[in-house]
Amino acid sequence: MDILANALEQKEYWTTIRRHLHQHPEIGFEEVETTALIKRELEKIGVEICPLAIDTGVMAIIRGTKPGQEKTLALRADIDALPIQEQTGLPYASVRQGVMHACGHDGHTAVLLGVAKQLFEMRDQFSGIVKLLFQPAEERLHGARSMIAAGALDSPAPELILGLHGGTETPIGKIGIWSGPFMASADQFTVRITGQGGHAAYPHRNKDPLLAAAHAVVALQTIASREIDAIDKFVLSVCEFHAGTAFNITPADAVITGSVRCHDAKTRESIPDRIDRLVGGIASALNCSHKLEYVFGIPGVVNDPSVVQTLTTAAIQTIGGGNVMQLERPLMGSEDFAFFLEKVPGAIFRLGVGNAPGQVLHNPKFNFPDEALPVGIATMTAFALEHCR
Ligand SMILES: [Zn+2]
Ligand SMILES: [Zn+2]
Repeated sequence: MDILANALEQKEYWTTIRRHLHQHPEIGFEEVETTALIKRELEKIGVEICPLAIDTGVMAIIRGTKPGQEKTLALRADIDALPIQEQTGLPYASVRQGVMHACGHDGHTAVLLGVAKQLFEMRDQFSGIVKLLFQPAEERLHGARSMIAAGALDSPAPELILGLHGGTETPIGKIGIWSGPFMASADQFTVRITGQGGHAAYPHRNKDPLLAAAHAVVALQTIASREIDAIDKFVLSVCEFHAGTAFNITPADAVITGSVRCHDAKTRESIPDRIDRLVGGIASALNCSHKLEYVFGIPGVVNDPSVVQTLTTAAIQTIGGGNVMQLERPLMGSEDFAFFLEKVPGAIFRLGVGNAPGQVLHNPKFNFPDEALPVGIATMTAFALEHCR
């Protein structure tokens, strides 16, 4: 079977499904109707749905019937939407106030359903097991962990996992690939600086945490510019600054929060100490005290080179070499797919969704292009067949 031609034949059907999902988006861990739709479609195809101790999200299995080495791989799609008020004006725009598929997970879900249909119909052409993971709550950053805790990677345990995400840097019809460290870790910090509040006319009697926090915001910029190797990819952004209640009072407390993004795991581990030393030094120099709260969020996504190699081979054979793009650069964004990669090697690739105006992820005008559906379906199917030959 010509995988791409077959995917193109199915395009109309999965477009209808994708648009239905788009019209009925659900926030992470509330994907009740989405989960029901996925199960319904899988049952229609004949795919075996596995029990999973989780309220939303679906795990399903397709067993290849070709005799040979029993391999197991997992394919993952995220299914949740975002708390955004849609502004696309589309006839199938979200019917839910303040909820929208602004990250294209409606497309990812439709792609994996299309893959399920192709692989089920071609099950005599591979040996082993393909696990389909429809993951909830990617945007809430806990979905992958919940799925893993519910047993998504247990018996049979996949030896590798593949995922995709719409990429606005990649033209429609193409995919973008990257081998090695691809997406950043995402951690967050909160620093509270405490002084002693008082009258603005007599600052010499007070201890001013607002001034200390202002110095701290500036000093924190020196981590990137003076402490981390310039070749290493690193971002620290201070994103909140809260202090004060009136124009004539120096406050007793100031709070700043921020986001830290790294590609290197050792750099990542070193950041809490660096923040603590810098902010602590400034706070004590200005007669204040400080407290740092640091939360390690999502690890970085590191694409396994051999998985990327298999993907590249399969994609070139299926969608053509001219449509398989080496990405120009890795990303500073994050993906909770990283939690799967902590357990099994794998990779995530970019499915081209184009860079037309408004095609910005998490933007109220974003819409996943249906033309990308067959490309995603064919690429993932071909990857599974290549690995489980
Ligand atoms: Zn997103
Ligand atoms: Zn997303």
